[in-house]
Amino acid sequence: MKHVFNEGGLLSQQVDGYTPRPQQLEMANTIQQTLADGNILIAEAGTGTGKTFAYLAPAILSGQKVFISTGTKNLQDQLYNRDLPTLRKALAVPFKAALLKGRSNYLCHYRLGMAQADPMQKHHYDTLHSLTVWLGRTKSGDLSESNLLEENSPIWSKVTSTIDNCLGQECPNFSDCFIAEARKQAQEADIVVINHHLLMSDMALKASGQGEVLPSADAYIIDEAHQLPDIASQFIGNRISSHQIQELCRDSIREIEQDAVDMGSVRDYAEKVESSLHSLRRSLGDSEQRTPWLNIVGKLGVKIKLSQLTECLDNLAEQLELAAERSKGLEQCYERCNSLIDTLAFFSQEQADDSMILWADIRSSGLILHATPYEVSDYFQQWMEEKPAAWVFTSATLTVAGKFKNFSNQLGISDAETVVWPSPFDYKTQSLLYMPSIPVEPNNEQYLSHIIDISKQIIEYSQGRTFLLFTSYRALNTVADALKEQSDYPLMVQGSATKSSLLDEFRDHGNAVLLGTNSFWEGVDVRGEALSCVLIDKIPFASPGDPVLQARIDVLRERGGNPFSSIQIPAAVIQLKQGIGRLIRDTKDYGVLVLCDPRFLSKPYGKVFLRSLPAMPITQEISDVKTFFADRA
Ligand code: SF4
Repeated sequence: MKHVFNEGGLLSQQVDGYTPRPQQLEMANTIQQTLADGNILIAEAGTGTGKTFAYLAPAILSGQKVFISTGTKNLQDQLYNRDLPTLRKALAVPFKAALLKGRSNYLCHYRLGMAQADPMQKHHYDTLHSLTVWLGRTKSGDLSESNLLEENSPIWSKVTSTIDNCLGQECPNFSDCFIAEARKQAQEADIVVINHHLLMSDMALKASGQGEVLPSADAYIIDEAHQLPDIASQFIGNRISSHQIQELCRDSIREIEQDAVDMGSVRDYAEKVESSLHSLRRSLGDSEQRTPWLNIVGKLGVKIKLSQLTECLDNLAEQLELAAERSKGLEQCYERCNSLIDTLAFFSQEQADDSMILWADIRSSGLILHATPYEVSDYFQQWMEEKPAAWVFTSATLTVAGKFKNFSNQLGISDAETVVWPSPFDYKTQSLLYMPSIPVEPNNEQYLSHIIDISKQIIEYSQGRTFLLFTSYRALNTVADALKEQSDYPLMVQGSATKSSLLDEFRDHGNAVLLGTNSFWEGVDVRGEALSCVLIDKIPFASPGDPVLQARIDVLRERGGNPFSSIQIPAAVIQLKQGIGRLIRDTKDYGVLVLCDPRFLSKPYGKVFLRSLPAMPITQEISDVKTFFADRA
């Protein structure tokens, strides 16, 4: 590892501007040992440690089969297309690498053909035609490379497959199938880059006894591991959406038109299912909400509409059973229909499964019913045990007040080595923490007017170059409206353009102010003077209105635990650390962090937050902020 990371080593020779860091070398050595011993490591690596190279180099040099999982598809692409080629060149050792994403990322030949033949899609003809042309050129079938579809395009689900509607080896296009090819390459590769959603869908499939999506490996390295407990909880359990039911109805009609035109009864029953689905959605009222299922299942008429929907699905299943022998596609529609009936029954039972939180996500366009487990630790632990391998969990934000307990408890990991490598940045000289005195607490109606005044002052001293990070859209919009009235600096407000174009604009201006909520707290990298100040409006406690969080809080309280210190504070600490991590991104960066919430200093729990931050000079005097920037002008 010294040969790779030290001054004059392989990385110094190959990577422009590479700076050796002792933390990075230590981390690489520790991961090398973990992979060799087949152990479990949980490691927090502060911003600037260079953790990506610190795990990629030992993974490549181990000669083992290693899965690397990242938080997002963008990071996955970056790792595969930028970091791995850099290391391939620097290390000069042969290895095979593969990129594997979830099946919804790959164009499906069979479903593209179905969509083209579907008269209901004729207004998308141009896009479908462009996709067909692209199909002839692409090697991977990864739709993100095509630039033809927005992620929320209605066409996306028409031209990609799900585990329910894929025909597998009986598909007429199986020999050309992009997913089958990507999996084959993953099977043969030494280093496979995946994402947490795919990793957790493997766990969910295994837990439901339906097999697995990933081949076995010698080691798993999970980056951005702080996201894993939440993603695991989205995958374990049961869910059924109005979209799934509509897709079944439409696929059944398309299959009939293709292979069983004489069976018009399937069309009639599919239409009845859709109409009873609309009627169920209408019975739930107009407002969009995420709410416990118990709160709405008692509403007038909901139970009746639910049983009518089940009855219509039963009737459709009877018809599909008769049609199933006509084609593989119809046989599969029959199986999908039965599986939806089983899932719906889960939400119709009088006596619900008490290990699950039943809740509904009601949207104007439809409805999703979820059964989410109270805890994912048992599932995760069992899944890990079934994969005898080395495990590395890493992120810049895993500890709460220096301890890993919160993270390891959530995933049920009991026997891991734990290490913290602090950031190599010198926060004492590069930064200042300003904690303004605000005379009221965040729930006071005057609170936002204080945030507006502080924001104006800060922006003036930092000459723009500021991120204002909020915990709610209400606060964001109120402050944005106030700043729009008089601002000498370009203002960028979340929602006015895509995240990436707002960030590009922010960097280009060099003196802009960006206002954002959740999605700007993480995964945003603006180096240099363009970002010299980060203001956080209040402690980022999750909304207690979230039905899953509320149910977990209630259960812990019933068991005699303290949900505030065990659930709410740790989650807010991790979120705060992510937000703060936007400020200093390089050894030459400098900046002021503004933590507005008076509870950081007035409440006993405020200490937990402050103990979780890098050691920065703290002030309550705005004149110190002025001096900090003036000294660096
Ligand atoms: S095997 Fe499945 S994913 Fe592949 S082309 Fe056929 S239906 Fe689509």
